[in-house]
Amino acid sequence: MKKEITLKNERHGTQATAKAEITTAGNYRLTKAQCKRLRAELCGSKECLCSGNTGARGEVTDSDGMSLDIFGYSDGSVELYPAKYVDCEGRSVLH
Ligand SMILES: [Zn+2]
Repeated sequence: MKKEITLKNERHGTQATAKAEITTAGNYRLTKAQCKRLRAELCGSKECLCSGNTGARGEVTDSDGMSLDIFGYSDGSVELYPAKYVDCEGRSVLH
């Protein structure tokens, strides 16, 4: 099953979408190939240090508007999971 997610890069004023695979844990995965395409759309420069694997810098949301955090893997793929509104000790924080 897949779901569309929207990624923004506030530095370059760009936005892109991708169909992310939903994992068994209910998170999202983007392949290395998807990340390369996204980074080309969002940033476009190999030398630019604005962002990680996906080229996102700023808001990332799924099609329900849920805010997502990105975890980048060293193989170039990423996992995206719901941004938790709590700190490392479980206290509520403003996002
Ligand atoms: Zn950039």
